[in-house]
Amino acid sequence: MTPNSETSRGENLASCHDCGFVVALEGGAHHAATHCPRCHAVVHRRKPDSLNRTWALVITAAMLYVPANIFPVMRVISMGKAQEDTILSGAIYLLVHGMWPLALIVFFASVVVPLLKLIALTFLLISIQKGSSWRPVERTKLYHVVEAVGRWSMTDIYVVTILVALVSLGNLATIEAGLGAVYFAGVVVMTMLAAESFDPRLIWDRVRESNG
Ligand SMILES: [Zn+2]
Repeated sequence: MTPNSETSRGENLASCHDCGFVVALEGGAHHAATHCPRCHAVVHRRKPDSLNRTWALVITAAMLYVPANIFPVMRVISMGKAQEDTILSGAIYLLVHGMWPLALIVFFASVVVPLLKLIALTFLLISIQKGSSWRPVERTKLYHVVEAVGRWSMTDIYVVTILVALVSLGNLATIEAGLGAVYFAGVVVMTMLAAESFDPRLIWDRVRESNG
């Protein structure tokens, strides 16, 4: 079944990003913009420079992902002894100490999910640049999953906080956030901005072009 690939772009229409009002645009330029008559936000035919911006943010996030996992996210000083943990060694610590549900949450929220988000966005970007008309419905759904997961990205930070709280229970210890935590926060923010700057309508533009 070929889905209906008609978009409002051919009709010189675009919906307001903020309130959803459908606005008539003038001129044929790809990025023609106007103001929404209802909420006065700027309405773009397509998000400006969507592919370049998303690529830049995805690459930045991928580069930050490496130090986020190499450098310790926290440093615990207890009775004069300092212990540093990376995300992974923190997860292993929890696992060894019988807190495997929390270990799994830390591992998935902090290691697996950010990586999957970056892989998904890279796949979407490449498929659009290749002018792919392959499974547009599934690709649109994939984008919605990435976007929805983005809203929960802050959970990753909470996980680190929980970890810190757990370690501090029971013994008097000083806990400091490590350099890794700064990079990790960078990964979260850059990935959220990347998902935000991606325009899923580009998927359908390519399908329409390749259909004639
Ligand atoms: Zn509006």
